Amino acid sequence: MTRAPSVPTLDALAALLGPKGFTIDPDQMAPWLTDWRGKYRGAAAAMLSPATAEEVAAVVQLCAEQDVALVPQGGNSGMVGGATPDTSGDMVLLSTRRMNHIRVIDEAAQTVVADAGVILEHLHEAVLRHGLRFPLTLGGKGSATIGGLVSTNAGGTQVLRHGTMRALVAGIEAVLPDGRIFDGLAPLKKDNRGYDLRHLLCGAEGTLGIVTAACLHLVPAVAVRRTAWIGLESPVAALQLLRRLDPAIGRELEGFEIVPRSCLDAVLRHIPQTRAPLTKTYPWYALVELAGEDAEALDSVLQPELARALDAGLIYDVVIAKNDRESEDFWRLRDSISEAERAEGPAIQHDISVPVDRMPDFIAENPRRLAKAFPGARALSFGHLGDGNVHHHVQPPVDVDGKAWLAAHGEAASRLVYIHVIELGGSISAEHGIGQMKRDILAELDSPARMAALRGIKAGLDPAGLFNPGKLIA
Ligand code: FAD
Repeated sequence: MTRAPSVPTLDALAALLGPKGFTIDPDQMAPWLTDWRGKYRGAAAAMLSPATAEEVAAVVQLCAEQDVALVPQGGNSGMVGGATPDTSGDMVLLSTRRMNHIRVIDEAAQTVVADAGVILEHLHEAVLRHGLRFPLTLGGKGSATIGGLVSTNAGGTQVLRHGTMRALVAGIEAVLPDGRIFDGLAPLKKDNRGYDLRHLLCGAEGTLGIVTAACLHLVPAVAVRRTAWIGLESPVAALQLLRRLDPAIGRELEGFEIVPRSCLDAVLRHIPQTRAPLTKTYPWYALVELAGEDAEALDSVLQPELARALDAGLIYDVVIAKNDRESEDFWRLRDSISEAERAEGPAIQHDISVPVDRMPDFIAENPRRLAKAFPGARALSFGHLGDGNVHHHVQPPVDVDGKAWLAAHGEAASRLVYIHVIELGGSISAEHGIGQMKRDILAELDSPARMAALRGIKAGLDPAGLFNPGKLIA
């Protein structure tokens, strides 16, 4: 059983971290006790902001001796309430925001070692100055930290070519629940010493260790990119296009996103200074991006492939961005969908994955199932078709009080979505994680064998349940 820190424990933590690293001031803590979506509100006995891995280890040792639970937090941009403590006020919030140094950029090895609290956008800027790129980006890049990205195994728009965070992590340093520092930062290509702690910590959502630094793989900065906005009939056509482009283009194909017309319309309605790339409207759009070293090589493959797809009637129209600014404009349309959809009214959002080939079936069939069970309910999907991952929003019928409808039917509608996903062999969380939001539905719907293994790993590494209780697994 964990318990609230006693006054002497709080005094010891304050003495350890000094005024910059310790606060119990409710006003200073308030912004960090609510999640990014404003869905969860928690309380904490104190907010700790250690500056080094050694300080984190000392904090954990002190808390472990006193059975005090810790909630790690990076940029607080997570989507599932993973970094928000419960309402008891017994836990301490451990923020990594003072751990914000880039330790080494190794140009020859194409790696960077960064503290857990380094913000993704700052990392992008720092490595770019060395002609390198960290090939993972997402809408929350101005807040999301390396520790948070590792701990949620974040995805984004370049997974098609570079994989999720797990694939980009070459090494990890973390403090384990007994207060010891695990130094796994060395970027070993081969390491067969049994269970891979590095992989266990990726996606553990702060339940197994507090990541203090990571060694990350880099790639050369983009020399040239080509971004195409394509009008087409359906996700089936988009998947056929992907299947043609993938072998023809190979490693240069970095992104393949799909956007239904209703989402583009919402963006154009709500987001200032946006315009449709094509003059005519189409039921669906694909946003395709290639990145490489040589403009001619990219053009010599992309243009003929798209021309062939047009001739075959697979796509209706296409425009290729003339310059980086136009590319950014295309991406802004895609990246603004969540904001535009929020402006359209309340909806329940699902971040799901199924095998890529089954995604068109899911996108077509799930709205039918929802409408049958909840007459008038609407659903839309957009996102990373190339990864078999879409953001699937369920909206209330148009003529009802949306918030009341979601309060009454939201949970049942989500269950229907998740059951369908599992029928198709998919996952109820493609990239956002489980946190507190999906904890119970995961326990209910996931395989008993997998859940037992997850619980066993947690109990083995954190038998007292000190790290991020109530998240991921109950
Ligand atoms: P937090 O929100 O602070 O924490 C997230 C989880 O990680 C919590 O469980 C927390 O306890 C744990 N944690 C944080 N730091 C540590 C640490 N050092 N050690 C151990 N555990 C830790 N995500 C995607 O995957 N793909 C997207 O495309 C995407 N788009 C987004 C767009 C927007 C506009 C926003 C706001 C968010 C988006 N996200 C996306 C979600 C979010 O940015 C990611 O989940 C990100 O990885 C969270 O990082 P963070 O530093 O903010 O972590």
